[in-house]
Amino acid sequence: MDKTIAGAEAMAREVWKEAKKADEEAAEIDRLTEQETRTSWIPDSRWRVLAPGTDKQCQLTGFWLCPKKAVAELEKKRSWSHRMRNFRGSYSDYYQWWAYCEDHLYGRRIQNGCVEKLS
Ligand SMILES: [Zn+2]
Repeated sequence: MDKTIAGAEAMAREVWKEAKKADEEAAEIDRLTEQETRTSWIPDSRWRVLAPGTDKQCQLTGFWLCPKKAVAELEKKRSWSHRMRNFRGSYSDYYQWWAYCEDHLYGRRIQNGCVEKLS
C-alpha cells in the first residue's frame, strides 16, 4: 500500500516539476515580450478571476510550496508526455484550470474583476 502511495507521489512530483518548467518558460517569454512592448493593459482571455472566497491554493510550484490563496486561474494545456504518464489520464485532464495567487500572475493584474496583461 505504501508503495502505491509513494509511487503516486513520485509521479505527482514529476508532473509538478514539468508544469513548473513550463511556467518558467512562459514567464520568461512574457517578461521578454513585456520589455519590448510595454504599452497598455488588455484583458487576457486565458485567465479568469476566481469568485471571492474560493478556497484554492496557488499552484505555482506544487501544492506544498506556495501557501497563498489563489485569486485567478489560467487555462493551461498540459504536455502530451504528462498525459501519457498520468495514470488517471483522460482527455479532460489535458486542459486544466491552474490557480495562482496575486504574487504569481506572471506580471498580470486584476482590474475590475478581469485579468489583464500588458499588450
Ligand atoms: Zn503563489
